[in-house]
Amino acid sequence: MSSSDIIVIGGGIAGLSAAAALSRHARVRVLEGEEQIGFHSSGRSATMVHYALGDRLVRALTLASRPFFDSPPEGFSDAPLGHRMPVLVHAREDEREALEGLEAEIARFASLERLDAIGVHELCPLLKPDALFGIADLNGTRLDPHALLQGNLRLLRRNGGNLQTNQRVRQIERADGCWTVTTERGDSHSAPTIVNAAGSWADEVASLAGVRRIGLEPKRRTIITFDAPPGTDLGRLPFAKTVGDSLYFAPESGRLFASPMDEVPSEPTDAQPEEYDVALAAFRMEERTKVRVGRIHSRWAGLRTFTADRHPAVGFASDADGFFWLAGQGGFGLQTSPAMAAIAESLIAGTAWPVPDVSSEALDPVRFTRQAA
Ligand SMILES: Cc1cc2nc3c(=O)[nH]c(=O)nc-3n(C[C@H](O)[C@H](O)[C@H](O)COP(=O)(O)OP(=O)(O)OC[C@H]3O[C@@H](n4cnc5c(N)ncnc54)[C@H](O)[C@@H]3O)c2cc1C
Repeated sequence: MSSSDIIVIGGGIAGLSAAAALSRHARVRVLEGEEQIGFHSSGRSATMVHYALGDRLVRALTLASRPFFDSPPEGFSDAPLGHRMPVLVHAREDEREALEGLEAEIARFASLERLDAIGVHELCPLLKPDALFGIADLNGTRLDPHALLQGNLRLLRRNGGNLQTNQRVRQIERADGCWTVTTERGDSHSAPTIVNAAGSWADEVASLAGVRRIGLEPKRRTIITFDAPPGTDLGRLPFAKTVGDSLYFAPESGRLFASPMDEVPSEPTDAQPEEYDVALAAFRMEERTKVRVGRIHSRWAGLRTFTADRHPAVGFASDADGFFWLAGQGGFGLQTSPAMAAIAESLIAGTAWPVPDVSSEALDPVRFTRQAA
């Protein structure tokens, strides 16, 4: 049996970033069920940092994470963690009011440019003429999820921490102030503290430990890639999103990607794209842009896992000692990962609270178990 101070269950961005931060204070071991890190949600995202997502709390977590992406710690990554990609939120006449509402909400987090029809089409010539209004954040960032995951892993290892893959946890017991975690391969690991960063499976992991579930809801989202019209200057295109949750698209490895922003309830699973959502992505792309979606080159789906109030759940469980929740990152888990890791570090290792605009109560998982009690 191996022993450490903290076991992190889950080698996605949540688990690895928290593990890296905690490894400054403790002996940390990450257990990941798959053969590779980032196999589930963290490897299937749209990889954007933007503010047209979530509410004030999510935006505050995103804003607090920005400095990390712009200047990561020394030795974190050889490659930049991302590159600038403008974010354009566009609207038709009937969506104008919604755009104004969104602009008012985002304005305190990002410096926005308000665009008229000419400005919208200069920034994104692919849109149909009925896109009359827009707001643009020219400081949007497209992340490199590989660099982000590997950077956190590198930090973890440099501090003496450890990652083990192919270690799906199937049994969790507590005795004498210590958790013992047993994996499907029969290996056992012990630690006084567990961090539950199992993404869509976090409620299942809680059940294994006899901890009350918090009612997480995984929802599937689909992405397709296809060719841009000949002559499109892909390097200049923004991440373009409808003001409502209908469609986003952006350049992707010499092509375009698009999502119909589907949110289909799912079991925790290796999500696969459904034909309907693939067709919906193509339909909405043709509805809002001048692009004809020909051959679909690739398609994938991933789960975005939400709590009931769509805020993450970060903090110790009230019904078990040493069981820490780090779950419910929805569609913003990459862009908030530095702040979330620093919050986990603060609550577990006692460092200063890193995000003054967000209270620990707002994130406390107890808000769900209290209601259920
Ligand atoms: C299509 C799509 C687009 C998105 N776009 C964005 C975006 O633009 N910006 C953004 O910030 N976010 C985006 N997201 C959301 C983001 O990807 C997630 O919030 C984030 O990846 C969640 O990270 P995680 O580590 O919690 O989950 P995961 O990456 O799923 O990691 C959880 C890990 O736990 C492991 N695990 C589960 N059970 C066990 C067990 N019993 N034992 C051991 N290991 C276990 C799993 O194998 C998995 O690797 C998007 C997501 C999708 C699907």
